[in-house]
Amino acid sequence: MPLTRIVYCSELTENIGSDEIADILQVSRENNAKQAVSGVLLFNTHYFLQCLEGSRAAVNGIYCRICCDQRHHNAQLLTYGEVSQRLFSAWSMAYVPWTEATRTRIAQYSIGTEFNPYQMSAESVVKLLEELARLLLKDAG
Ligand code: FAD
Repeated sequence: MPLTRIVYCSELTENIGSDEIADILQVSRENNAKQAVSGVLLFNTHYFLQCLEGSRAAVNGIYCRICCDQRHHNAQLLTYGEVSQRLFSAWSMAYVPWTEATRTRIAQYSIGTEFNPYQMSAESVVKLLEELARLLLKDAG
């Protein structure tokens, strides 16, 4: 089964707060671990950026489910394809804290000062994810 990566962005529905985000992360970690799916969820007050990697069937199934979720809308695929290795193999769903280090990386690949994944090129998105994976691994080690 080909190892597949989906990266999409979406907009948070109004009034989604930290409790809902915590729920999303918890459910994601439980469900994804059962299907050997790894990834990362990045967000600010307006936007989500999520990467899912695993078998083609698993990531497509999860992505279809996510698209129906009313806690966000306007999902747009940024990249989709087969990859030779995972970026986030250590996490069923990694969370990226807004530290100085992550802010700097995000600003480096963003257009403008605010994090807005809709404005990012697919190439920038992948580079940003590679940087964040390195940073998370360093922090974990
Ligand atoms: P149920 O929990 O039975 O929900 C049924 C439907 O209601 C689904 O369409 C669900 O999306 C929606 N729903 C559930 N809770 C709420 C709520 N509080 N408000 C509004 N709608 C709701 N799930 C994963 O398994 N893996 C992931 O990586 C993942 N990432 C996500 C990223 C984002 C940005 C969002 C918004 C959600 C994510 N989810 C993820 C959650 C996913 O959308 C489903 O809620 C979850 O997988 C449970 O699915 P279920 O079919 O068992 O739904």
